[in-house]
Amino acid sequence: MQDLIRQLLAELGEDPSREGLLDTPKRVERALKFLTSGYDADIDRVLNDALFTVDYSEMVIVKDIDFYSLCEHHLLPFFGKCHVAYIPSNKVIGLSKIPRLVDVFSRRLQVQERLTSQIADTIRDKIAPLGVAVVMEATHLCMSMRGVEKQNSFAVTSAMAGVFRTNARTRFEFLELIKLRSAVPGAGDTMLGRLACVGDD
Ligand SMILES: [Zn+2]
Repeated sequence: MQDLIRQLLAELGEDPSREGLLDTPKRVERALKFLTSGYDADIDRVLNDALFTVDYSEMVIVKDIDFYSLCEHHLLPFFGKCHVAYIPSNKVIGLSKIPRLVDVFSRRLQVQERLTSQIADTIRDKIAPLGVAVVMEATHLCMSMRGVEKQNSFAVTSAMAGVFRTNARTRFEFLELIKLRSAVPGAGDTMLGRLACVGDD
């Protein structure tokens, strides 16, 4: 990887042998490996010691989880807040594992829509709750840094399943509790009001 990064620097018009750049290939390799370490993570190992059987069926919410990911179209960061809620049927996930789950899927090359649904799908698969909802709000540097004006660089995506999809009051309660900075499209939408990076250029 370091040879490729040296080549890339040269292609960009830089001199990879100048002092400030000497260790850059090594650093970039290390950074990229960390930022894509989610590919190697084993979801079952992350979660399995933290699934508990409970007699509890109120909404569980973990909100304002910071996340950082890389858009697969430009390899530039997008980052923001993730809000997760579910209503258990008979199992819960240890609260500290929810941010870990967000990290596992964030540390890959992503599009925001897929990242959002992967988190929701994993919770649904692992504990079969009565419902699960995930909302992500993110700034995309591939849009804001490049001055792309045709779209807002701030994007909101949501994935709702079970009672969050079928019951408007449950969904409303969740959205009230996370107090979004911007409107969330209704449950069931697959295309969202404001798309994340679309990678058309
Ligand atoms: Zn992008």
